[in-house]
Amino acid sequence: MAEAIEQVVIIGSGPAGHTAAVYAARANLQPVLFEGETRGGLPGGQLMITTEVENYPGFPKGIQGPELMAAFRQQSLRFGTRIHSEDVTRVDLKRQPFTVASAQRELKARAIIIASGANAKRLHLPSEDRLWNKGISACAVCDGALPAFRNQPLVVIGGGDSAVEEATYLTKFASKVYVVHRRDTLRASKIMQERLLKHPKIEMVWNAIPLDVLGTDVVTGVKVQDVKTKATRELTCGGLFYAIGHQPNSDVVQGQIEMAPDGYILTKPGTTRTSVEGVFACGDVQDRVYRQAVTAAGSGCMAALDAERYLAAHE
Ligand code: NAP
Repeated sequence: MAEAIEQVVIIGSGPAGHTAAVYAARANLQPVLFEGETRGGLPGGQLMITTEVENYPGFPKGIQGPELMAAFRQQSLRFGTRIHSEDVTRVDLKRQPFTVASAQRELKARAIIIASGANAKRLHLPSEDRLWNKGISACAVCDGALPAFRNQPLVVIGGGDSAVEEATYLTKFASKVYVVHRRDTLRASKIMQERLLKHPKIEMVWNAIPLDVLGTDVVTGVKVQDVKTKATRELTCGGLFYAIGHQPNSDVVQGQIEMAPDGYILTKPGTTRTSVEGVFACGDVQDRVYRQAVTAAGSGCMAALDAERYLAAHE
């Protein structure tokens, strides 16, 4: 019997992957979606580790991240997406049809949509796991406006554009924002730096790294160390925000597709097309700038439409 060839296989189950699935399914492409392993892994992506999502349009009262992702998944299933709760371990883009494999199965596909996302880098401080979501976040734009963070000092770790942007954003709610940076110069662009350095609510803590986050049930402070003098001090605060960059989940296609040196998949401007014809990328795995659920969902829609056009042209 001839081997079945799928029209489109989607890798990833965040807003980008599921939006691509809804559009592909409604275009009758009968998509298969690998959502990642349920045990240990994290189907649903970064929203699964967020609490309240208040900036996804259509939910004026806000919605919990996991609840939003459950709704995305339900909508994919409603239109017939076949979902495998497995990690993709191997992809072969060298010949058509492409191959996508997990530990349990190997599929052939005419088109692939990569929506495998990115993870915010963390420092894995000793008390970090215990206090995660209890005052520690890797996304000020997602979490900064929560009541728990209002009217108290907050700490941002990092010295790039994200750290500057997030610290500036947090000044709207915080009584004060400390920016802890491991060097004595910022990596952020000059204009962003100026904005940061002259802000009355922001205090720079130069040449410092965090040693631990303090607190029993919620974050109450951060212990930092001066990298030169080795002296330590405690910054009293109600929240710690990481802004030390993201790591795109692109290992599985490394070496087979054009990507930036730091692993972001490159797409042709204004499209989701990658350097391999028939392979599309959407969401955070190709977006280092916006990284929002709604922009990821938008690019997931684009990827499904791009894939649909590609398949129609190559029938
Ligand atoms: P980034 O530019 O890579 O900066 C990461 C920062 O975190 C750096 O200052 C780095 O310190 C620090 N860092 C990294 N690992 C660390 C560690 N283990 N311990 C302590 N500090 C650590 O990342 P980003 O700020 O997320 O920006 C990513 C990209 O998006 C950049 O191209 C940026 O320009 C862009 N972006 C643009 C905007 C905008 O234009 N509005 C906003 C956000 C992001 P070092 O400086 O010492 O390496």
